[in-house]
Amino acid sequence: MSEVARASNGTRARRVCVYCGSRAGNRPAYTEAARALARELAARGCDLVYGGASVGLMGVVADAMLAAGREVIGVLPSALFQREVAHRGLTRLVEVDSMHARKAAMAELSDAFIALPGGFGTLEEIFEVLTWTQLGLHAKPCGLLDVEGYFGHLGEFLSHTVAEGFVSRRNLEHLAIDADPSRLLDAMTTREGAADLAVAWTMRYGAPPRPVDQGGPGDRSSPSG
Ligand code: AMP
Repeated sequence: MSEVARASNGTRARRVCVYCGSRAGNRPAYTEAARALARELAARGCDLVYGGASVGLMGVVADAMLAAGREVIGVLPSALFQREVAHRGLTRLVEVDSMHARKAAMAELSDAFIALPGGFGTLEEIFEVLTWTQLGLHAKPCGLLDVEGYFGHLGEFLSHTVAEGFVSRRNLEHLAIDADPSRLLDAMTTREGAADLAVAWTMRYGAPPRPVDQGGPGDRSSPSG
């Protein structure tokens, strides 16, 4: 086994979270890439965490991992069981009550994150975990599988965010981008300095907001409560 996607503490990334479209897109290459990524993950002994649907690329990657004999954990909000057609053949299907709880559960269950082509949901999910690396909440590797240049414009835009001084080059370098699943996983090794950040995976993302004392006469809530 050569370079394997590694968790931030240097151990092998056992569970890899794949974010991807609830649609399959217009090109067969997207489906082929989802299968190729699953084969590469399986060959490296990784298991899958994903959104729990049976539709689109989500279903393709889950089916391919199952076919390769790996464990697949799906995390799906109750409200999406019908719309995204919950996958009934998974190793484990975790039912949660909100989109926020879904993302928090997927992130906590996973050692690394990869986005395949997808839409708003996919982009939002990978950018959220990427921003958490920037804040030092975790240092798990993040990557984009750039199938047929799907993420090309996004890569250019991200370079623009660095050039314009809104993102540091070091933070952008936490995001690996490659068209080849094997090279992508190899690139998703610990980046220099990432270990400094690898501590506080403590975010309670689904916690209810605390009451804020507005100082008004009728407000008896404690700001520390
Ligand atoms: P899409 O890339 O838009 O096809 O969505 C891919 C997956 O992301 C689907 O399972 C969506 O339900 C999910 N998704 C969309 N928006 C969000 C969100 N705000 N938080 C968590 N998951 C989301």
